[in-house]
Amino acid sequence: MFSHLQPTPIDPILGLMAAYKEDPNPLKVDLGVGVYKDEQGHTAVLDCVKKAEALRLKNEDSKTYIGMAGDLSFNSHIEKLAFGQHKVLLSGRVTTAHTPGGTGALRVAAEFIKKANPDATVWVTNPTWANHISLFQAAGLKVKEYSYYDWDTKGLKFDAMLTELAQVPAGDVVLVHACCHNPSGMDLNFEQWKQFAHLAKEKGFTPLVDMAYQGFGLGLEEDTQGLRYLADLVEELILCSSCSKNFGLYRERIGACSIVTADSKTTEIAKSVLLSVVRSIYSMPPAHGAIIVSHILDSQELTALWHQELAVMRNRINDYRQLIIDKFIAEGITQDFSFITKQHGMFSFLGINKEQIERLRKEFSIYMVGSSRVSISGLNHSNIDYFAKAMAQVLKG
Ligand code: PLP
Repeated sequence: MFSHLQPTPIDPILGLMAAYKEDPNPLKVDLGVGVYKDEQGHTAVLDCVKKAEALRLKNEDSKTYIGMAGDLSFNSHIEKLAFGQHKVLLSGRVTTAHTPGGTGALRVAAEFIKKANPDATVWVTNPTWANHISLFQAAGLKVKEYSYYDWDTKGLKFDAMLTELAQVPAGDVVLVHACCHNPSGMDLNFEQWKQFAHLAKEKGFTPLVDMAYQGFGLGLEEDTQGLRYLADLVEELILCSSCSKNFGLYRERIGACSIVTADSKTTEIAKSVLLSVVRSIYSMPPAHGAIIVSHILDSQELTALWHQELAVMRNRINDYRQLIIDKFIAEGITQDFSFITKQHGMFSFLGINKEQIERLRKEFSIYMVGSSRVSISGLNHSNIDYFAKAMAQVLKG
């Protein structure tokens, strides 16, 4: 049976990571991988996580099964982080399952959508996180793209987006990135969120909000303002959250899938469907990451520490957005890169062509994804001058 298998191409980002690892150049720079790195180029464990882990080691008294919905305290915390004091929470309209990462949340959401409407098409931004498309297709759903990023203006194709989404029928699902759009870094502003929310209400499609970077954009609360406005207007939505980036818990695989329904009675039904989905995929999620997050958010002291550490990550990236432009100007680059400071989150599209990306890799060992997406925190004071000089060379032709 297995001899008929054909090799499957690996995700280009994983291929890039492997090529970077093997590159012997001591000056090599990794701008590909979507994890936060500090000034030392290291993805450190947050102090709040270390402290919560110490507490867990002391208090943990059982490894019995955790249950299909996962850690209930985590679920309650993650709902509050996303919705605050919103009416959807106060009126019991949300049910949440903690999941293995944001990816697990999206897969659970996909299976949930199939139970609600097996014929649903999931609409995703063009471009989007590469895994969105394969994930929904693997679950057996149709996927279509809507206009989002404008390569020419380095902004949004917002009018085209609204025109296209106006054609989406009720029963389909429209995925939006809550903040820090991956890969472009271009987010909807609040006015645009409002228009999107009114369209969703009017047309009846179901929004799926993917929130993988809460706290990396403008701030923990600010990054939810689009989501909360949407929840003001529409009766139903799906939220997929991830704690990989904002808690630095990447490998612990911790996220959540929350379903918002029209009333608390439907929420009970949705909960049973959600749990049956979980049961048939992985039965129960891993506990560790959720309990760490729960310990942090249970403690005022650890929460304050987390807020500080999150702000350090967010501010470092934002400072580098400006520093990139300053360094480019210092190297005599005349092309306008000011759009970099208008973007949010881990990523930015530089907008350079394939040949230039290739030259950066071959001549300078600077690695970025083929779309020219760079992960800003891969830059630090030791490599930013080298990067700016290499860019100046490559842009000269
Ligand atoms: N959604 C988006 C937009 C992402 O960028 C990512 C990760 O890069 C995820 C979801 C999945 O996150 P996780 O690593 O928690 O599975």
